[in-house]
Amino acid sequence: MCDEIDTSVEIQAAQLDDAIAAHQRAVSASQASEFCTECGEPISPLRQRLGAHLCIDCQHEFEAADRLYRR
Ligand SMILES: [Zn+2]
Repeated sequence: MCDEIDTSVEIQAAQLDDAIAAHQRAVSASQASEFCTECGEPISPLRQRLGAHLCIDCQHEFEAADRLYRR
């Protein structure tokens, strides 16, 4: 009984690892950028890992504009 549960958890964990790895490959291939696509300022390594393509300032402006347009 317990072995079956352990195995299914292991399979799920392996599938999750695969999904995360695939996502990270897709992000690094298509989106991640060292420099902001709006103003050309460098993007922090943390934001790059999250797939950001805007610097923090442009991201804030983008989100502010997004809120305006949604009204
Ligand atoms: Zn920017």
